[in-house]
Amino acid sequence: MTEISSKPKITSLDIARSWCKENGFIFPSSEIYGGFAAVYDYGHYGYLLKENIKKLWEKSMSQERNDVLLLDSAIFMHPKTWDASGHLSSFSDVLIEDKKTHVRYRADHLVEDWLNSKTKEELEQIATQLTNESVKEMVVKRNLDKATPEEIYEIMKVSKFPGLENYTVPRNFGLMVKSNLGVTDGTITDENAVYLRAETCQGIYLNFKNVLQSYRMKLPFGIAQVGKAFRNEIVARQFIFRTREFEQMEMQYFLHPSMMSQKFEEWKNIRMNWYIETLGINPKRLRFRDHDKLAHYASAACDIEYKFGSIGEFKEVEGIHARGDWDLGNHQKFSGENLDYFDQETNERFIPHVLETSVGLNRCVMMVIEDSLYEEEFKDTDGSKNFRTVMKIKKTLAPIKVAVLPLSKKMELQNKSIEVQSMLKTHFFTQYDETGSIGKRYRRQDEIGTPYCVTIDFETLNDNCVTVRDRDTMKQDRVSISDLTDYLLVNLNS
Ligand code: ATP
Repeated sequence: MTEISSKPKITSLDIARSWCKENGFIFPSSEIYGGFAAVYDYGHYGYLLKENIKKLWEKSMSQERNDVLLLDSAIFMHPKTWDASGHLSSFSDVLIEDKKTHVRYRADHLVEDWLNSKTKEELEQIATQLTNESVKEMVVKRNLDKATPEEIYEIMKVSKFPGLENYTVPRNFGLMVKSNLGVTDGTITDENAVYLRAETCQGIYLNFKNVLQSYRMKLPFGIAQVGKAFRNEIVARQFIFRTREFEQMEMQYFLHPSMMSQKFEEWKNIRMNWYIETLGINPKRLRFRDHDKLAHYASAACDIEYKFGSIGEFKEVEGIHARGDWDLGNHQKFSGENLDYFDQETNERFIPHVLETSVGLNRCVMMVIEDSLYEEEFKDTDGSKNFRTVMKIKKTLAPIKVAVLPLSKKMELQNKSIEVQSMLKTHFFTQYDETGSIGKRYRRQDEIGTPYCVTIDFETLNDNCVTVRDRDTMKQDRVSISDLTDYLLVNLNS
């Protein structure tokens, strides 16, 4: 086949949502009850893709290194954790509501959109009317991420935000999800409240001492974990990009402060290469974005961003942060437990500093689907023009590795196909499909990214050979059944 043209399939959030549902990757939660906002369920293919990404992250972060150990900490933690981490006092976004429609917005995003419609000169003009230097800078840079409700309101007034009177005054909205646990009558009060974790890394800090002692670790070393996190996001209309329940893959690297800048650069490169080499993401759609404004305890922060076709802009997939000794220091203060480290070589005692890499697993799933799904026009071997939707995903990530397709529904072919599939099942996720023309069945597998289709035909009954079709080149190889597993193992790992 010769490729004539190829263009990305996912160009809007609606297309992303409907493609993922129709193809069994991702379903809206609780659909039979009318849905449940910003929560999604993963079907067979979506689950397998997510697990494959997760395994590759664990492999690169821990299996292939000596200095990073894995952890699976509980979702519920002692409520004081969130006091020490600062989440209870300051983990909030600024909420604004349309008084008539009651639609809620993140005020920073709403006003940023408004500022985006302004020219540079107009922004500077607005800035001159503001007194605070840092607020002026936010306006000029159109970045209100760190603005307080009062600052946002002032910007709205000064910039003559359209229909200002139709909105409520901006206010902070806490993002922690509260729950109750144990014997209570179900009433959640400030005294009995527990929280669903808003980030997985707190479980890592709480286990720092355990890991240090049990595994006799020496600095620098890291602890990595994958798990669910929960946030009461104000706006969650961006499919799986921003949901209220999601998964994070986080690693906290503990080190002496003198090593921070060197290790920060090293980890930035390791992480960017992971997206390009391991996940096969197009490097032109990836970039670093350094944070302009840092948290008071941080010395550097940088995001890895991907240009989502569905959203139409670069958005954060991973954050890399130099967090100083803020986390361990605060947990030491709040718990009264000594969390410092004694370096026997230098006789120095100190609280380790933390370098964090934090990935959104669901955002990775969305990125991988968008980056690999194409509508392709091609010329067949007989010269005819043809179309297909193909997911040119890395073979290691593909949910289904091999499809077994009998050429007809004749019993001898079915039996032989089932025999071949049973042999392959012990190694790979496979699929058996006997409905529709062989062309249609190939298209179905192309669309979900299956790297190989194995066709069983009448000749197979005589020569014990099958036809193996490659998803990307559509080339076909005749392979003996006795060599088939090895053939696939070699090619799937190439
Ligand atoms: P954003 O600015 O997009 O809200 P964040 O800076 O709050 O993200 P972090 O707290 O640094 O995000 O979390 C680390 C990673 O977790 C993010 O890079 C992102 O991939 C993922 N993440 C955060 N919030 C969500 C969410 N609501 N839904 C899905 N993934 C999320």
